[in-house]
Amino acid sequence: MAHVKLHIPGPVEVSEKTFKALCTPMIGHRGQGFKDLYAKMQPQLQTLLSTKQLVYLSTSSAWGVMEGAVRNLVQKKVLNCMCGAFSDKWFDVSKKCGKQAEALQVEWGSPIRAEAIDKKLATGEFDALTLIHNETSSGTMSPLAEIAALKKKYPDVMFIVDAVSSMTAVPLNFDALGIDVLLAGTQKAFALPPGLAVFVASPAALAKAATAKDRGYYFDFVEFQKNAEQSMTPSTPAIPHIYALSSKLDDFFAEGLENRYARHAKTNQMTRDWAAKHGFTLFPEKGFESITLTCVNNGAKPGGRTVDAAKLQKLVKDQGILIDGGYGKIKGTTFRLSNMGDETEATMNQLYAALDKAMAQL
Ligand SMILES: *Cc1c(COP(=O)(O)O)cnc(C)c1O
Repeated sequence: MAHVKLHIPGPVEVSEKTFKALCTPMIGHRGQGFKDLYAKMQPQLQTLLSTKQLVYLSTSSAWGVMEGAVRNLVQKKVLNCMCGAFSDKWFDVSKKCGKQAEALQVEWGSPIRAEAIDKKLATGEFDALTLIHNETSSGTMSPLAEIAALKKKYPDVMFIVDAVSSMTAVPLNFDALGIDVLLAGTQKAFALPPGLAVFVASPAALAKAATAKDRGYYFDFVEFQKNAEQSMTPSTPAIPHIYALSSKLDDFFAEGLENRYARHAKTNQMTRDWAAKHGFTLFPEKGFESITLTCVNNGAKPGGRTVDAAKLQKLVKDQGILIDGGYGKIKGTTFRLSNMGDETEATMNQLYAALDKAMAQL
């Protein structure tokens, strides 16, 4: 079967080099070979996230760590900041974990603003908050630095941040932000196959986790720290994915992180230009558009052009490229084009050519 290239916002296209790395012969996860592999990656991961903390590898999708963070760190009540499908779901997950939870809901396409969080935290009811940096469903980026600055005012509140679809595409300085958890799954901007998550926790988060009686085992942050100190993981990890991550980290540093960030900014601007050229507007509030994907407004909000999104998707797929036809309640009234991972100006131009051809047939 012919491969359809992925331009959806996750999973994204995986390179041949990465697939080869996945097929590296197996080793034992308690042996020196694995410890050497993890130890080689650790400083790269720490540089990537600008942190002195140990970076953990979780054999799970992002949701494992998202749920784990709630189980490890919420004792009183969690404020779930909600602005799209993934951040909305974190509220449900918190309740399913038996936690007291409150929704800070804004309209999809709007970012979460620091003032709104400040108002909620001022009540003193909360000991944790969850935030999604880049809400993939609506293509909206919330102002992370502005929100993280609140940590100084509320040092006892655990700031849990999902950077699933932004990590590696924009600079994320964990220690400087002063937040408590930063996590990502690897099938988005890392451009690895799904199945692995990367995360880091602050010393305060580790101390608090140690006091949580029902934090479970698989996502126990204390276990992750104890094992990471020995360059190991609590349970048998997805070693093929870890080989692939190591290969990918080498790619990141060969390209240069700054170049990687600039490439994402550039290819994202090209996609916005493509949308504008065809008379479309964007779904997110102006100034808060994601830089790893473009959520095109297709009738969800007034203004701009609309097309039959399902038909557009099919016409592009017939040319061997998969775009996304909109997520959740904005399916069809938006569509999404991803520029995350390995995409270059050249590969993005192939996408626009396919889109142009499809648009001419609509
Ligand atoms: C994809 C995504 C998730 C969920 O990831 P899973 O791999 O399905 O667990 C969570 N948050 C954001 C922002 C995402 O884009």
